[in-house]
Amino acid sequence: MTSLTYPEVHSVGSLKAMPRTLPQPTPPPVTEATIRCPQCGHQALERMPENACLYFYLCTGCGERLKPKPGDCCVFCSYADALCPPKQAG
Ligand SMILES: [Zn+2]
Repeated sequence: MTSLTYPEVHSVGSLKAMPRTLPQPTPPPVTEATIRCPQCGHQALERMPENACLYFYLCTGCGERLKPKPGDCCVFCSYADALCPPKQAG
């Protein structure tokens, strides 16, 4: 049996703990997203409700009331940098 994959480490003194990628079952949904107003370009970090869709959003820059684009369930899916938690879940 040939073991070519991992050579044995002989210098134990200089062993350093290697960061290992731990298996992540399911990452928690992103609950904050930066929403960007298409009218004025103002960006704001907003909390997303985890089991609801925010259909209207009042821009804190210009006061424009944003609505989702056709086919999107909420303003985050349309204008933010993250999908809303229900969409992230599947
Ligand atoms: Zn705006």
